[in-house]
Amino acid sequence: MRIVLVGPPGAGKGTQAAFLAQNLSIPHISTGDLFRANISQGTELGLKAKSYMDAGNLVPDEVTIGMAKDRMAQPDAANGFLLDGFPRNVSQAEALDDALKLDGQELDAVLDLEVPEDEVVKRIAGRRICRNDSSHVFHVSYKQPATEGVCDVCGGELYQRGDDTEETVRRRLEVYHSETEPIIDHYRAQGLVVTISALGSVSEVTERAMEALRKGDDA
Ligand code: AMP
Repeated sequence: MRIVLVGPPGAGKGTQAAFLAQNLSIPHISTGDLFRANISQGTELGLKAKSYMDAGNLVPDEVTIGMAKDRMAQPDAANGFLLDGFPRNVSQAEALDDALKLDGQELDAVLDLEVPEDEVVKRIAGRRICRNDSSHVFHVSYKQPATEGVCDVCGGELYQRGDDTEETVRRRLEVYHSETEPIIDHYRAQGLVVTISALGSVSEVTERAMEALRKGDDA
């Protein structure tokens, strides 16, 4: 299956993507993770991306689209993928449509995770992420690790993303509304959008998502 996951920052895209990708046996491709890996490796691409990310803005398309396409061209993505955080504006969505068409492929579904705005800010400002695996996500009040600062799953160090401050979250939300939300209409016109609520426990949301994808598949 070829799936795009959309939703505001803090909707739980990364967490859900990891579970869904595992359930569906497809790779989880997160452009945010790819940028963060480039930044920690000190690559030229990472240097280009960093200032945009720190400010909560989108990294320019000429950097992002090439990086996403290179990742999708890897052998493990030949039979499907779950895109998390890409596309994030209409021109990226059009570039993805064109790239898939060129390969005779198409998307199966666009899963839209809905969450109220005040919940988003609460979720993100207290979020702590594992340095080893960004799908290991904790929260200072909602999901505390057994030992402060240490990942329960793998023992990795927990940290707060530089762009998870309240000010940057508000900017990322503005960018989401102005740039990313329009892709939902773009895909609605193609009959691909399935919307689910992202409230509830992680496993409830995963189950809801799997159910919606199964139904979307029948349609
Ligand atoms: P995420 O991990 O998906 O929340 O992404 C973190 C940040 O990386 C975003 O706020 C953007 O600055 C940048 N980013 C990730 N994906 C994209 C994309 N498709 N287009 C532009 N910028 C992106």
